[in-house]
Amino acid sequence: MAHSVSVKIPKLNKTIEVPTGLFINNEFVPSVDSQERIETVNPATEEVICSIVAASEKDIDIAVAAARQAFKTTWGKNVTGWERARLLNKLADLIERDAQELAELEALNNGKPVKMARDFDIGDSVQCLRYYAGWADKITGQSIEVDNKSKLAFTRHDPIGVCGQIIPWNYPINMWAWKVAPALAVGCTIVMKPSELTPLTALKLSELAKEAGFPPGVINTVPSLGPVGGAALASHHDVDKVAFTGSTVTGRKIMEAAAKSNLKKVSLELGGKSPHLVFESADLEQAASWAALGICYNSGQDCTAGSRVYVQDTVYDKFTSILVDRVKALVVGDGLEEATGAGPVVSKGQYDRVWGYIDSGKAEGAHVLVGGEKRQSKGYYVDPTVFTNITSDMKIVKEEIFGPVLSVGVFKTEEEAIALANDTTYGLGAGLHSNDANQCMRVSSALEAGTVWVNQYNILNNNVPFGGKKQSGIGRELGSYALEEYTSVKAIHWNFGDKLDWPLY
Ligand code: NAD
Repeated sequence: MAHSVSVKIPKLNKTIEVPTGLFINNEFVPSVDSQERIETVNPATEEVICSIVAASEKDIDIAVAAARQAFKTTWGKNVTGWERARLLNKLADLIERDAQELAELEALNNGKPVKMARDFDIGDSVQCLRYYAGWADKITGQSIEVDNKSKLAFTRHDPIGVCGQIIPWNYPINMWAWKVAPALAVGCTIVMKPSELTPLTALKLSELAKEAGFPPGVINTVPSLGPVGGAALASHHDVDKVAFTGSTVTGRKIMEAAAKSNLKKVSLELGGKSPHLVFESADLEQAASWAALGICYNSGQDCTAGSRVYVQDTVYDKFTSILVDRVKALVVGDGLEEATGAGPVVSKGQYDRVWGYIDSGKAEGAHVLVGGEKRQSKGYYVDPTVFTNITSDMKIVKEEIFGPVLSVGVFKTEEEAIALANDTTYGLGAGLHSNDANQCMRVSSALEAGTVWVNQYNILNNNVPFGGKKQSGIGRELGSYALEEYTSVKAIHWNFGDKLDWPLY
């Protein structure tokens, strides 16, 4: 059976060849014991794109064994930092070469605009690979003086081993790069499970990894249903670390599976209900633009989506009127069309979920300022919807929606603003807009979040750490901090002269 399929994209007058097998030991292969397939769907048209092999538990075992073998032989401590850097840079070059095709495939499978996929998701992923390529030959421990005459200790930062990486559907290429780059830079090997909703670009990237020259088994890609392949990775006894991005509910299951199996190291990037605070001294035009970006970017399918905005009472009317203009200016449509600023949401499941929240907001008495009406055409579209007249016990205010649905509330004092912002079980991102520098410092320090944006929102850099507090996660991605997630510290105590006088006591 062939392990690739030609996908026609009539809108672009193009055909893209897509691998459909599991990628293990640098080959695309069928499942060893299952006929199960995953159907991928274009969310703009609701049409099936193609079907791919779904990994079984047995396939996960085989992929983990391949990663272990590579870790022991061609990778791990058997490859220099320079070589790891060279291969990461080569992979970045190949992704850059194929950026347009990868962006089109991402748009087809995820729904996001091609230009956004190309310029932001892929552009940032290329930078991420190059950033960690720079780290690959700079992984150092410490030399620690114990006793100047006869003893010295030093540390080595060893690659942790085989990493199970489970990624979501909102940024399929980006999340792949964030996970793969630091792991490979330090010498780990990988079994990657992309989301069953958006597995196509991870398979394409696997092809590029082989072309770049990564040895067999270093990167393995096993699309699978979460409770099958994802659960198998999280509970596997020969996986040393699991890195996960997705919902808090699933993150909890992963941590539990890790605890019950081999106590593998776990890092979790989970959900959020991130607040934006707009103070009266803020540049309201700018604050409204950032707030609109915070909820509309990627159709709100963003773990840091700024889904709660609280505005000081003195500027509330002015701010909300500018915000409505900003939201209305966004063109929501098929991601394959050039004019599109935001696409449909990813799937029927996500569409029903987001509309369920909009209905609940209306039923609980919130006021729809803009949006909130279903389209009658095909495609999983949700036009950005802004609610006002909210109360903190409403579902739309408390729960992560993961769609373009914003709740706007009001506050009088700084203390009240901070209390409202922190009134959540999450702690991923937070934004504040103010032209008072002392206020910016006070409030950013009081906000309970892993990232605080001041007079901007949702901007990430590969050299700055990212992660959550509270129930938004454990561990950090990006920056030098991510290297700690993929290394284990070994302390070596060296005696170069001390004699043991036995018995000691
Ligand atoms: P999810 O957490 O179920 O899926 C994320 C990944 O986890 C996928 O690869 C999935 O296959 C895998 N998975 C699912 N069940 C698993 C299990 N038992 N063990 C191991 N892996 C498993 O998210 P979803 O169902 O795709 O989306 C539901 C909600 O999650 C969204 O509406 C949103 O609120 C949230 N979400 C958050 C992020 C984020 O970036 N923080 C990303 C995607 C979804």
